[in-house]
Amino acid sequence: MAFDPSLLRSQFPILSQQVNSHPLTYLDNAATTQKPACVLKAVHDYYCTSNANVHRGAHFLSDKATNQFEQAREVVQDFINAPLKSHIIWTKGTTESINMVAYGLEHILKQGDEILITSLEHHANLVPWQQLAFRTGARLRVLPLTSAGEWQEEFASYFTNRTRIFAATQVSNAIGTHTPLKEMLLRAKQQGAFTLVDGAQAVAHYPVDVEELDCDFYVFSGHKMYGPTGIGALYGKQHALEVLIPYQTGGEMVLKVAYQATEFNVLPYRLEAGTPNIEGAIGLAAASEFLNKQDRNALLEWEQKLANHVYTRLKKAGGIEIYSPEKHTTLVSFSVPNIHLIDLNGYLDGQGIGIRSGSHCTHPLMEQLGVHGTLRASFACYNTLEEADRFCDALFDAMELLGDE
Ligand code: PMP
Repeated sequence: MAFDPSLLRSQFPILSQQVNSHPLTYLDNAATTQKPACVLKAVHDYYCTSNANVHRGAHFLSDKATNQFEQAREVVQDFINAPLKSHIIWTKGTTESINMVAYGLEHILKQGDEILITSLEHHANLVPWQQLAFRTGARLRVLPLTSAGEWQEEFASYFTNRTRIFAATQVSNAIGTHTPLKEMLLRAKQQGAFTLVDGAQAVAHYPVDVEELDCDFYVFSGHKMYGPTGIGALYGKQHALEVLIPYQTGGEMVLKVAYQATEFNVLPYRLEAGTPNIEGAIGLAAASEFLNKQDRNALLEWEQKLANHVYTRLKKAGGIEIYSPEKHTTLVSFSVPNIHLIDLNGYLDGQGIGIRSGSHCTHPLMEQLGVHGTLRASFACYNTLEEADRFCDALFDAMELLGDE
């Protein structure tokens, strides 16, 4: 039976509104997804029935909040198939997770060591490594990948016995390309490097199995997978998390404090200083359960079908540069030569259609593509074929209106 998004869509209250007398068409899901009622309810219920500080253990509500918070960790552990719940560190999101690793690994780097990333990275998986290289005298190297995710040059020379850290995205946020993760991780591991995978654009669409990926660190944000903002996770293997020097210190992450020295807590608390985002963790667990209940393959096929439908219509129309692959992606990134992105974006916004324009936090990738920015329509499980068509029709109208002739 064909997938019907209408049942799922009805679980997302925000989507039923009108914008400028048009139905809201939200196609900016790679930036952030909307939240289903079960996530909103989980956060609301927590505040109505369980709010207290966690791990203080002195009274009923504190125990209740702690139990829910730690259960949420188990749900997220299960969601990415991590072996132990202590391997899940709560963070603000992907950016904080990467910074935590970049600061935590500073002590292992020497002058001349190499940090390797790919040319498809979001700034969040670039700037922390660049700054780490500046602080330590290590060298930041960039493995050139084509926009199709293929090696642009002989890759063997990039993985050397000086490669100490390898960090790569699973899926490009700017153009939707999958990176050749398996081969890259294998090469990096052969050189004994720590490996980090940026899963920000993967978790909402693809079932993630960190045991199978066998990376040292896996990072993602809740808000891109139907969960709340301000919460995400850093998964790490036991030895990898133990190597990290905590980049924040204070309460919660300690066992014993004296003026002379501090004994740090065990994992995961050692890397979680201060009062955590309790309702965020509970909301993220609800989002994971929401996804677990779906037929993930059916959702992915649907999202890819919508992207492919838009790709095909844009290609057929002509006069549009498309930067995304034709297949196996859930977004379409493109530009229209001679018409400014902002003008197109503004026209679509007037029609109630929300997409993203700009560099998508990937300046070097935009340079590689030879553009300042692109327009990006990105899909989620609740988007419909009518929305995909409404977007294409409005884009073609805008091109006619704003074009030269
Ligand atoms: N990496 C990728 C691939 C992303 O798409 C994003 C968000 N656009 C990030 C990292 C940063 O995520 P956050 O802003 O949630 O920390």
